[in-house]
Amino acid sequence: MTVSKTILLENGVEMPRIGYGVFRMKEHEVAFNGVKEALKAGYRAVDTAAIYQNEEAVGEAIKASGIAREDLFITTKVWNTDQGYDNTLRAFETSLKKLDLDYIDLYLTHWPKPTLADTYKAIERLYDEKLIRVPGVSNHHQHHLEEVFAIANVKPMVNQIECHPSLSQDSLRAFCAEHKIKLTAWAPLGTGIVFTHPIVRQLAQKYGKTPAQIVLRWHLEIGNIAIPKSVTPERIAENIDIYDFSLASDEVAAITALNTFHRTSADPDNFDF
Ligand code: NAD
Repeated sequence: MTVSKTILLENGVEMPRIGYGVFRMKEHEVAFNGVKEALKAGYRAVDTAAIYQNEEAVGEAIKASGIAREDLFITTKVWNTDQGYDNTLRAFETSLKKLDLDYIDLYLTHWPKPTLADTYKAIERLYDEKLIRVPGVSNHHQHHLEEVFAIANVKPMVNQIECHPSLSQDSLRAFCAEHKIKLTAWAPLGTGIVFTHPIVRQLAQKYGKTPAQIVLRWHLEIGNIAIPKSVTPERIAENIDIYDFSLASDEVAAITALNTFHRTSADPDNFDF
């Protein structure tokens, strides 16, 4: 299957299919160097969040790159303790300032707290005011999305969820496709256990790619956006070098069938943060 480097969202905005994730990169220099390296390697999307505490470093690396703002796609998220209508608007202001940007491409509710409807209403307002280009959510199950739909004028266009071969999210992917919501896969490489699976190893050998590249290509083939994280320059480059081969449909299906419903982190129906 041919896959383009960007995906068209419901409102016509193009989002890069591979973005650079910056979770667990609190140290200023680590985040700055990581984003700098990623932009040099050809990434045009960066996925941060208020809770990652690196929005300033991300903003500085963007500036230092000299890449035109309109050629970049920046995602950030409102943290759980800042949810609710007014708090979300305030949290957005803070993120915008830290990133030193005039607008954010994609703004997400980080996790579905009981206030998720008010939080989404604030995100809609930011969208109306053109301070964000795309409204979205993260870690929303189908029933959370249905809660949002009940109050939304504009449905979320992206749902960022944990997804990898050990958690292929088939039913949520189908529901989101039905509602024209694109999925971004966080922890796209999973725990790494899948790298040693015979199917993945065999495909890596067949295509002359690494197991990580096979898994990331699988994401593209099933319609996902993926935001792999690495601080190692070779891996940063490797993780975006996945456009020169494709997997056959039975190979895609074989990877999807590795699903064991294994989560690397909390279930959005049961978290205590
Ligand atoms: P990941 O799947 O991107 O990476 C997991 C680990 O794989 C990394 O720590 C790295 O050591 C290793 N790795 C990276 N490239 C590799 C390669 N080519 N070969 C071998 N190993 C490699 O998982 P992640 O960092 O948890 O998630 C990615 C991004 O998703 C985060 O940085 C963040 O931006 C986002 N995220 C969002 C949420 C959310 O709640 N919305 C939660 C977690 C992460």
